[in-house]
This record gives sequence, C-alpha cells and structure tokens, in this order.
Amino acid sequence: MMHYHILTLFPEMVLSGLATSILGRAEKNGYITIEASNIRDFTEDKHRHVDDYPYGGGAGMVMQAEPIYKAYQSVEEKILTQGRKKPRVIYMTPQGKVFSQQDAKLFAKEEDLVFLCGHYEGVDERILEEIVTDTMSIGDYVLTGGELPAMVMIDAISRMVPGVLSNEASGEFESFHDNLLEYPQYTRPVEYHGKRVPDVLLSGHHANIERWRREQSIERTLKWRPDLLEDAILTPKEQQYLERLIEIENRIRE
Ligand code: SAM
Repeated sequence: MMHYHILTLFPEMVLSGLATSILGRAEKNGYITIEASNIRDFTEDKHRHVDDYPYGGGAGMVMQAEPIYKAYQSVEEKILTQGRKKPRVIYMTPQGKVFSQQDAKLFAKEEDLVFLCGHYEGVDERILEEIVTDTMSIGDYVLTGGELPAMVMIDAISRMVPGVLSNEASGEFESFHDNLLEYPQYTRPVEYHGKRVPDVLLSGHHANIERWRREQSIERTLKWRPDLLEDAILTPKEQQYLERLIEIENRIRE
C-alpha cells in the first residue's frame, strides 16, 4: 500500500489527473491513496499570498518557505499519528536527478511519499534544505510547475506497487527490463494494410517466440537507445547476437 501526499498550489489538477484508468482503480481497490494539500491553505497572509519577489532582484516570483513548511508539517504529523515512519520528501525540479524506471522501482518500496511541486521561479532554498530528501527531474526541459512531473512519477511508481497492475508480470517485462527496450507488439487482425504479423508469433512455439522477442529488443535498443546497451543484461548468446548486429551495421556504414 502506497500513500502519496502532494503539496501543491493546484490540488484539483493532480487529483483529477490521477483519478482515471489504472490509478483510479488502484485507489478504489485500496492499493494506493492520493491526497493533495493546497499550500495556499497554510498561509497566514491575509491576501493568501504564497510567493514574493526574489532577493537580489530578477524576473518572477519565489514560493515562500513558511506555507510549505506548515503544509508539510500537517502531512508529517498525520503519517506519524497513523504509526508510519517519517516520509521521503521529493522536490520536483529541473535541477534534480533525472527520474528512471530504476527509481520508480525503489520509490515503490516506500509506504509514504511526499511530493513538493514548485511554481513560478521555484521555491525558497531554505525550505528545500530543511524538508527535502530527494530532488527529482523528469527531463532536461523547464515546465511551469511541478504538478505534471509529480503525476508522471506517481504514475510510474504506482505501476511498481504490488496489486496495481492486474497482471504483475506486465510491469516486470517491458521497456527498461534488463536495460533493453521492449520488442514490437501485435494484435488482431493477422494481416493489416498488407502487413502480416511475424510468423513466429503465430507458431505457438514458446521458446522460439521468446528468442525472437529478445532479439527484437536488442535490435531496437541498438537502433533507438544504444546508450542503454552498456548496462544491458544479456546471455553470452545474446551478446554474440548484438556483436553480429554491430558488425553488420559497421559494414553498411563503410
Ligand atoms: N527557476 C527554476 C530553475 O531554473 O531551475 C525553474 C522553475 S520552473 C519554471 C517552476 C517549477 O516547475 C519548479 O519549481 C519545479 O517544481 C517544476 N519543474 C519545471 N521543470 C521541471 C522538470 N523538468 N522536472 C521536474 N520539475 C520541474
């Protein structure tokens, strides 16, 4: 069971975005809970301001420390009262570690995760130093807020939480398993726009299908994400297959 707590200025955005399809079902069936705290509810400013001008000047506004601290405290208190341990607090920022499938697997082992979503120019550094345990990015580009990144992480992590996917194997053997991309998939009809499904998939011969799929995974990874191959987990035979592919590629280039 995973409890997500999102600290945000736009709770309706994350709650509605995460309420449908597989995640909505996972919450209904009790595998995950998703709560969003509106940081604005924790300001004592009479105009409900949560941001201010940056010291030293420059464009944009910076989110203030105190409302975030109070929002976090209320979440932490709730978690501790329910008998669980102090949670990891993830600040979404383009400056963070780029999130990967491996991270999704590790975060899925937690019982609680708190996501802090920044907005505007970001967040007062002092609150980050005080409460944040992990800084994560979803890629090398800048978004307007941390809500979409938090939703991306919650989606990927939830797939790794036991029970969320009806067929648990389908979370295990897909892209990034063994550091390879997944093989191509086909469904009915057998022939579509003149293209047939590869014969091996219709053969019913499981060992051949498995071998074909691994080879396709290796080919695809070499073509689209060769950077992954350095850490790919391959059998000696698969390693030979990869070397042959590289040799053919080099010959074509010459
Ligand atoms: N001034 C910040 C900087 O240059 O690092 C960027 C602030 S960004 C406009 C506003 C907020 O969006 C950030 O505080 C962060 O929470 C979120 N954000 C933007 N891009 C992101 C990314 N690639 N990954 C994770 N969070 C991101």
